[in-house]
Formats: sequence, C-alpha cells, structure tokens
Amino acid sequence: MTGAMRPEMLNPLFAATDGLKGVGPGLARPLEKLGLTRVRDLAYHLPERFVQRRAIASLDVASVGEQVVVALTPREYRSAAGRGPFRIMAEDDLGDYVSLTYFGRNGGWAKKQLPLGERRWVAGRLDQFGQTLQMVHPDHVSEEGGAALSTLCEPVYALSEGLTQGRLQALVAQALEHLADLPEWIEPGLLAKMGWPTWREAIALAHKGEHALARDRLAYDELLANSLALMLVRTANRARIGTPLHGDGHLRALLNLPFALTGAQLRSIREIEDDMQQGAPMLRLLQGDVGSGKTAVALHAMLAAVEAGAQAAMLAPTEILARQHYETLTRMAKGTGVEIALLTGRDKGRARESILMGLLDGSIQICVGTHAIFQDAVAYRNLALVVIDEQHRFGVGQRLLLTQKGRRTPHCLAMTATPIPRTLTLAQYGEMDVSRLDEMPPGRQAIDTRVVALDRLADVVEGVGRHLAKGGQAYWVCPMVRELESEDIAAAEARFAALTARFGDDVVLVHGQLRPEAKDAAMERFASGIAKVLVATTVIEVGVDVPNATLMVIEQAERFGLAQLHQLRGRVGRGSEASTCLLLRGDALSETGRERLALMRETQDGFLLAEEDLRLRGGGELLGTRQSGETPFRVADFEQIARLLPLAHDDARLLIERDGGLDSPRGEAARLLLYLFERDWGVQLLRGG
Ligand code: ADP
Ligand code: MG
Repeated sequence: MTGAMRPEMLNPLFAATDGLKGVGPGLARPLEKLGLTRVRDLAYHLPERFVQRRAIASLDVASVGEQVVVALTPREYRSAAGRGPFRIMAEDDLGDYVSLTYFGRNGGWAKKQLPLGERRWVAGRLDQFGQTLQMVHPDHVSEEGGAALSTLCEPVYALSEGLTQGRLQALVAQALEHLADLPEWIEPGLLAKMGWPTWREAIALAHKGEHALARDRLAYDELLANSLALMLVRTANRARIGTPLHGDGHLRALLNLPFALTGAQLRSIREIEDDMQQGAPMLRLLQGDVGSGKTAVALHAMLAAVEAGAQAAMLAPTEILARQHYETLTRMAKGTGVEIALLTGRDKGRARESILMGLLDGSIQICVGTHAIFQDAVAYRNLALVVIDEQHRFGVGQRLLLTQKGRRTPHCLAMTATPIPRTLTLAQYGEMDVSRLDEMPPGRQAIDTRVVALDRLADVVEGVGRHLAKGGQAYWVCPMVRELESEDIAAAEARFAALTARFGDDVVLVHGQLRPEAKDAAMERFASGIAKVLVATTVIEVGVDVPNATLMVIEQAERFGLAQLHQLRGRVGRGSEASTCLLLRGDALSETGRERLALMRETQDGFLLAEEDLRLRGGGELLGTRQSGETPFRVADFEQIARLLPLAHDDARLLIERDGGLDSPRGEAARLLLYLFERDWGVQLLRGG
C-alpha cells in the first residue's frame, strides 16, 4: 500500500540507491545493512560527528594520517608516464616537501589551483608514500584563509563493512543533488521564531557541520510526522463504530487464579471495561513493567468480551511469545470453559483449517497468535477486542490498521513492558489512553544488583561457575558498541569461546547476525535448561522467560541507557529464587556513567528509571543515543525528543483541528511529510478506508 499513491514530487527521493553513480553489486549489501536503500535514506543518514583539521605551521609537527591545513608553495610539477598520477612537489615554510598527488587527472585543474611559486593553504590528510610525505587529492586549496580551512569540518558517518567514509560522502553528495525544494509543512510562525532553515537547506547543512538549527528542524519534521500520523489514527478511530461490550462477569467468576489482583490491576481492568462499554472503539495502552501482571489484566478484558458474546484476539510479536501466552491463558482460564486457540504462521493443513473454522463459526472465543491472526484468510465471526502485546513498541499505527477490518472496529488494548517517560509515551502512542500498572504483585524478590570493575572478570567467571554448580542458569550480555557490527560480534564470539573453554557445551551464543532458525534453536536449548549460559548481544531484550536463570552479567554496563539496562535486568528475577545482576564496568567511567549505575543498584522502579534515563542522556556516550531502535525515530535524538516533541504534538493537533482532511496547502505539504517519513498509513486513513 506504500508507494502507489506517493506524491510524484517525492519520487526522486525514493529512487533506489543502486541507481546512483558508482553503486555496483559490491556496495548494495553494505548500503542495505545500514538501511540506505533509497536516496531518501542517504539524505537522512546524518553524520555521527565531524572531523576538524588542525592548522599547522609546518609539516614536521604533523603525524601521518592526520587531517591538517598547512601553507605550501608548489615548486615542481611531475607528470608520470602512462597512467601514473600527477604530482605537485610543494614546500612548506621550513623547506620540507610534500607531494600533492592527483590520480586520473592530467593536472590542468591542479596547476590552475596551485601555480608554481605561489603560496597556498592546502587542506587534507597527510600520508606517507615511501620516503615522502604525500597528500592525495587535497580536500581544499585556497589563497588565503588557512584559519577558515582549519575550522572546516568533515562528516563522519556510521559505516558498515565494505563502505568507507569517502564512498559514503560521495554517495551522500549525490543524493543531496537529487533534493528538490519541498513545500513548507512547518507552521510559518514557528519556523520564523525558531530561525529554522528550509527542509532542503537543513539537510544540506546537517551534512556539512554541527548545525544545531538544521538538525533541530529535521528532528522536528520527524516528530511532527509521527505526531500527525498517530493523531490521524486517533481521529479516525474516534469516528468509527465499535461494539459496546457489557460483560456480566459470569465467566470471570469461574476464574480460579492463585492470587488476588493488585490494586493497579483492578483499576486497569475497570478502566478497560469502561472503555469497552462505549460505542467508540477503545484505544488504550496498558503500561506495566516486566512481571507486573499484564497477562491477568488482558485475560479479564478478553473474558469480559466473551461474556458479552464476542471474540477476542491477542497478538504477540514472536512465535515463542505467542506460545507462552497461549499456555498461560489456557492454564488460567481452565475453569471457565472458554475455547482458546493458538494460530501462528507455522500452522498448516488440517490443524489450521480447523482453527479457521472455529474462528468463523465462533466456537473459538479467544485466539492467540502472531500477525498470522490478521491475515486475509482469517475471518472471525465476531471479533470485538484485540490485545496487542507490544514488546516491540513500533508500528503501533500499522498494527492498529490491521485491526480495522470489518464493519465494526474492535476495541484495542496495547500492552507494553517498557516503562517509558511520559514524553516518549506521547511519541510512541500518540493520544492513546493509558493505564499503568504501577504496583508490583506482592512477594517479588528484589534483584541484587552490583557494580563490578571489569578487571575482576576472573572472579565473575568463577561466580558464574558456582552458580551453575548449584543448578542455576545465567545470561551473559555483550553490548554492541563499535562502529562495525562485525567487531561486536567478534567480541561476543570471543567471550563465548572463553566461557565455552571454561564451561564446555553448556554455553550457547545468540546475536543479530544468526539465522532465525539458529537463534531459535539456541534460545530453545537455553529455555529448556539444556544450555546453562546464554551469551548474547542485546537481542535478548525481546522477551524470553526462563525462571531458572537467576544470574545476569552485563559487560560494559555503563554504555547502556538505564531503560535498556532495566529491560535486560528484567529477564532475571522471574522465579521464586533470589536473583543477581552484575554490572561490569570499564575503568573510564564518567560522572553520569557513575550516576546511572548507582541508580540501577538502588532502584527497580522502571518508571523512575525511564524518567532518569531521559534526564541523563545527551552526552552521547551511550550506546545508540541516536537510531538505536529504542525510539521510533531515526533522526531525532533523546534530547530533541524531550525538547521538541511537545511542540510537534501541539502543532499536529492544531493542524488537524483546522484541516482534518489535510486539504489546505499546508495540509498538502503535511501529506508529503508523512510519506517522507513513511508514516503514510496516516494518510491512508484519510481516504476513508
Ligand atoms: P507481565 O506484566 O510481565 O506480562 P505476567 O502477566 O507474566 O507479567 O505476570 C508475571 C507473574 O506474576 C506471573 O507468574 C503471574 O501469574 C503473576 N501475577 C500476576 N498478577 C499477580 C498478583 N496480583 N499477585 C501475585 N502474582 C501475580
Ligand atoms: Mg507479558
């Protein structure tokens, strides 16, 4: 559904990068790994930082490899025979020589810039070639302004294997040539007040140097697109017809849960029930830390729907989680006689047919599964409630669209285990109503969290050994910190090898480059207790539940955000045994790094940690403060989200209040924006879907 209706004006931006000059099959993969498959992606692949050149008085003070600006006087031109490079031998103020080397050129252009005997400022990277110093294709040459050149800076981009900074810079430059002016979607008053450049200028500036206004503008665009899309979903939702559900409680009375619900659970259930009784479909988020008991709340909601004669479905992000939910719900609802089915992409043939029949004739009242439960072939007799276990917080909009099938719109309850700050709640869920499970079930054991210096690694490994000897299992988390993913994986593999050497076959490794089957197999071995230690990069964040694993070691813990650490730590402390989390820290710990780890030791309150996380961000020392997969944003960083999102949100609201169909000139521009940031599911809703 993307693409077909995209405004033509954006076509050049969505052209494939493999159509650019110099992109052969060799570059296609590295580009794809970075998500740079279209011109648009390159334009938004903003530099991570910039290099600045050092102005030097003479060559002897520079080191090889350094980016410098130096005054040179060309003394001699040397044209090599055949296809050799053209060289200009140039002398610095102390009489030392450097070769300015030009490949593939006849030298005409270089001669013009660097006439013999005339002093020029030259900027570039100093290299060694045999016995001589050389500068290959100097970046800049000018008659004066050495100072200006030394304040010039060069972008440094995130790379993947097979790409160099030079290649990427050249590709970005090509991409920028494809940019046309786009109509302005930002409210003119705001644009003027902020002093922001136009979209096209902003992109160009953001690649050129630390340009805060340009970066802010681009971040704002992204936030605005997101807010608009979510608000369109919300508005469309309000206009839809739902099914008022009045559960009379007869099924819930048959539940025989081994515990009493907490106050927070009771309150959330009441809020959900209220919503479901309305004519407009519910759009509610249930936020509750790992272990806060969301499943029981979901079950109550689904039973209320069934009591009212309707069906309910629960959507899980992975097969494993779908299965876990299915088993839990079946166990909990045993006494009620309600028919629950599990439907995943793996089900084939007879079994699948029979589930489809049951959903169609209504004999199955609750269906749990992966996105397979919303495929076209799946028809429900009377689906009136959809619960989305939103472990992976994005794509909420799309998922909501999935539920918009049929004449009547089902009520929707999204559940998230990630306690996020209020500002981010807005970013990810727009104006959904929120219920919070801010109270843990009684009797939870606190996770004993300790900060340990990395130089005590040997002790830590021995500690793991003692833990395993007692029959326990452990997680060992290696972070993703380097520029290239492969290096991180190498580090994780090295740790895996070391632990295997110590503990034998009891160790399994899981990381992002494994094939899904291999990953599943490793997870399965760990979950079933065959494997005792799971070495993993941060992929284990996405819910696994192994109650017997009560020890977690996190390497380079200072590089993680608090929310991420909290999420990771939530993997232990799930059983009745006391759990331990060891945060291994490097020795160069900053003040905020220290503060973060101390907070982890002191509190287990996910909401508090989430708020503090946002406050302590910004130094850029954390793993992926940008493009991390922790937010639905690629351009806006945490600091910008906190500062600009409220503005974007208000702006989006005003625009939609005035021009709900996005028909005004500014509305049209806003449509472009939605396509640009691929929030066009927002636009689809406008077409009366
Ligand atoms: P999550 O919010 O992470 O999905 P679960 O629903 O899986 O949490 O609940 C975690 C554990 O707590 C389960 O074993 C569940 O049975 C238990 N639990 C849920 N509610 C309560 C309660 N009110 N009192 C005691 N235990 C509870
Ligand atoms: Mg859960």
